[in-house]
Amino acid sequence: HAKGEGKNTFSFFDEELNSASRNRIALEQRLRQVLEKNELLVLYQPKISLATGKVTGVEALVRWNSPEFGMVSPLRFIPLAEETRMIIPIGEWVLETACRQQVLWQEQGLSLTMAVNLSSVQFKSPTLIERITAILDKTGMLAEQLELELTESALVEKPNEATWILEQLRSLGCGIAIDDFGTGYSSLAYLKNFPVTVLKIDRTFVRDLAHDSGDRAIAQSVVALANNLDMQTVAEGVEQQEQLAILRELGCAFVQGFIYSRPVPADELPAIVHTITAGDESL
Ligand code: C2E
Ligand code: MG
Ligand code: MG
Ligand code: MG
Repeated sequence: HAKGEGKNTFSFFDEELNSASRNRIALEQRLRQVLEKNELLVLYQPKISLATGKVTGVEALVRWNSPEFGMVSPLRFIPLAEETRMIIPIGEWVLETACRQQVLWQEQGLSLTMAVNLSSVQFKSPTLIERITAILDKTGMLAEQLELELTESALVEKPNEATWILEQLRSLGCGIAIDDFGTGYSSLAYLKNFPVTVLKIDRTFVRDLAHDSGDRAIAQSVVALANNLDMQTVAEGVEQQEQLAILRELGCAFVQGFIYSRPVPADELPAIVHTITAGDESL
């Protein structure tokens, strides 16, 4: 026991390392090797236009298939990847993989916009624009087909700098979505100046849409705000027919959610697009 051993407290801390932090350390060590070991994969979730019932795009969502830990959720490893800055190469890999896939589908006659989540760490990187430009060049994807999803927290920290970066992304041709809109701290004054093209209504407001008049008011306000600022709306996490009906009534343009499809591997996506577009009555 380290008690009374003066400065030599190492063994004390060693004993005190609980299993949670041991897991974290193990996770972090393995995370450093995910790219060389080729353990990441990207799933794609369809985005559906409520006006046409057609799939107009997909969102790329990363997964870590670890032989040791199983399928690790991005909610678990993205924060760790951000702390260690591993998110820079990981995010770049996701973006390149998604762009290549978009071009492949395009060549097969499946024209879909590709939404990719961008961490605030990536967003703040001084080489962001160069990296994105290089990936678009390398893959041959049109910037107009790419939509970058950012959270409010990435934007509000330094709003003036953020506006400048967003303007550069917009002049490349990329769309910009604010993800999980309404859950962060973005001020409406800034929102007005951000050259954003899409607001994504967070799943927490969609969940109880049918029974919670507060959530309904929020969803309605986000749609109205987006319309007035010339932005589109996407509702995330739509699971029930009732939610869909309300979102349609509110004038929300696009939806994503398990009611249409979970995120799926690339090879399963074309069949799902056809099923949704054909208007499967089971939905
Ligand atoms: P997000 O970008 O808001 O993505 C939406 C999440 O909701 C996804 O979780 C998706 O699988 C889930 N979802 C979609 N429809 C439904 C539904 O109807 N019901 C429910 N219960 N969930 C639904 P996922 O894939 O686990 O990703 C979680 C978060 O991890 C993402 O939230 C995003 O913030 C982050 N993430 C995922 N991939 C990446 C990535 O490549 N880069 C970065 N920086 N973050 C990523
Ligand atoms: Mg997203
Ligand atoms: Mg979201
Ligand atoms: Mg979300």
